Amino acid sequence: MEIPYFYREIETAPRAQIEKIQLQRLQEIIDCALQTPFYKRRLTKVGINCGKDLTTLEDLKKIPFTTKDDLRQNFPTGMLATSMSNVVRIHSSSGTTGVPTVIYFTADDLEKWTNLITRSIVATGATKDDIFQNMMTYGLFTGGLGLHYGAEKLGMTVIPIGGGNTARQLQFMQDFKTTVLHVTPSYLLHIHSKLEELGFSVDKLSLKKAFIGSEPHSERARKKIEELYHIDAYNSYGLSEMNGPGMAFECVYKDNMHIWEDAYIPEVIDPATGEVLPDGQEGEFIATNLIRKAMPLLRYRTRDLTHLIAEPCRCGRTHRRLSRIVGRTDDMLIINGVNVFPSQIEEVIMKIPEVGTNYLIQVEKAGALDKLIVKVEIYSKMFLGEAKQLDMLKGKIRDRLRASITINANIELHEPGTLPASEGKAKRVVDIRTEM
Ligand code: ADP
Ligand code: ZN
Repeated sequence: MEIPYFYREIETAPRAQIEKIQLQRLQEIIDCALQTPFYKRRLTKVGINCGKDLTTLEDLKKIPFTTKDDLRQNFPTGMLATSMSNVVRIHSSSGTTGVPTVIYFTADDLEKWTNLITRSIVATGATKDDIFQNMMTYGLFTGGLGLHYGAEKLGMTVIPIGGGNTARQLQFMQDFKTTVLHVTPSYLLHIHSKLEELGFSVDKLSLKKAFIGSEPHSERARKKIEELYHIDAYNSYGLSEMNGPGMAFECVYKDNMHIWEDAYIPEVIDPATGEVLPDGQEGEFIATNLIRKAMPLLRYRTRDLTHLIAEPCRCGRTHRRLSRIVGRTDDMLIINGVNVFPSQIEEVIMKIPEVGTNYLIQVEKAGALDKLIVKVEIYSKMFLGEAKQLDMLKGKIRDRLRASITINANIELHEPGTLPASEGKAKRVVDIRTEM
């Protein structure tokens, strides 16, 4: 296979060269960080008064972690490292887990970010000849404008449709022969349950690829998307604090996401002790942004759980890979003492062929115990059969879940398209234990 590169020299650079770039950029970014009262305090306390005080990448470990709370406490401008007149754009996180946080970019920061997005798109094999429908929300959310400029830079035909309005999304796909989508996996799955009802058919569309990301999803959900739409789906990871998408992306081999190490220093730690873990061990992902001078963030605790893969990828890129994100540390459910991530439940149920494209996890109190209810959409033809078949299907889902997560769940079956669906990030879990 001919491997497409955007910036081959950097993408395939030997480790030593990547580390040289990292150290040099880290020194520069520390000088910027020292312009903020927040980092000035933090860094001088550990003996760092200028970038050159760090002489090897190992010295990074001297720097304390930065947390989302630090961002909130310094809202709105406490971590801004330049004057507002140099700032050309702000973005903000979607606030999935509380008060939003704000991120600043200079023109040069934006250009560097855009280049990473173009690099990521090229890595999937998409080209300037593709018709790109960007179904992520435009505005403060980084998924809209971020991908938009990266795709334009490549020269793709960009349809900046934004999120929502399923009928219109499908109409555009059909009218403009869209070949590449950027969308959350949950919304793309949901659209499939509406497709026929809205008068469309996958066979009449021209889709080839989808970039799916911005929320946790299982390998099984990816496979399901690929099968339902006859496309290749590429996992895309990023968070607004680290600019947004374009941070880690799958290449043509779809075998976990290359994190662009000339722009970020990735680490994985034990979330309880803060100890840095070796490659291959799962823990909390920590990232240092080396390219955003308006607002540097050093050793940021993402709360996302993953591990780093150092083995070379068949594509020849030397940048390590991030394994599929299991979930956020704060997504973990504790059900009768058992730890479980929503993505583990998804992995099990999506493997069952009768199961459709949406589900909801509900946790309640039943006396002293916790009760897990898994509501799944199934294909409508199942409701035409006998009630006995539905009972058997419930039993099958329950057994498979018990075998995997050791919890006995109550299963509810629903018609396609009837469970609440989001046009952006899905809310998969309703935990009403504290409310009862
Ligand atoms: P918020 O923190 O408000 O959700 P962001 O838009 O910055 O705002 O979301 C970034 C978060 O989304 C990541 O920290 C991660 O938890 C999740 N995320 C993004 N991409 C992926 C992905 N490909 N797989 C799993 N989770 C993802
Ligand atoms: Zn690769």
